[in-house]
Amino acid sequence: MADAAEVPKVSDCLFCKIVAGEIPADVVRRDERTVAFRDVNPQAPTHVLVVPVEHQPNVAASAAADPAVVADLIGAANEVAAAEGLVSSAAPGTTADADPGYRLVVNTGAGAGQSVFHTHVHLVGGRPLAWPPG
Ligand code: C5P
Repeated sequence: MADAAEVPKVSDCLFCKIVAGEIPADVVRRDERTVAFRDVNPQAPTHVLVVPVEHQPNVAASAAADPAVVADLIGAANEVAAAEGLVSSAAPGTTADADPGYRLVVNTGAGAGQSVFHTHVHLVGGRPLAWPPG
């Protein structure tokens, strides 16, 4: 597990730099509270990261500091999913062919696979997704 000393300061934060436009990224959606950009190492045909503009090291910290931003992140991710053609008008519970869907993942903590310590939601879709994840 990363200890506090290893968590980057905001000025050293990669996703803060993407939010600020200091590092290039393929941004697909932006509003005053969230930014969505394509993951540089996509794990599926659609792999977008949705991050809050305000730096927090993980979603637990974001939820504590500003609970509404968690809804903003999920709302933004759902809008991106729709724009990517991943939202079906089929009835819930129908077949995967009719309703391919998508997955939102929030790795929280190094032991859970978090490697960038700025809150982010992974939006993954466009291929069959197995359960449980690794
Ligand atoms: O959940 P985790 O913290 O591991 O996710 C970080 C994600 O950030 C990775 O999927 C990685 O590919 C992505 N990334 C990126 N652009 C960078 C650095 C990392 O999209 N410049």
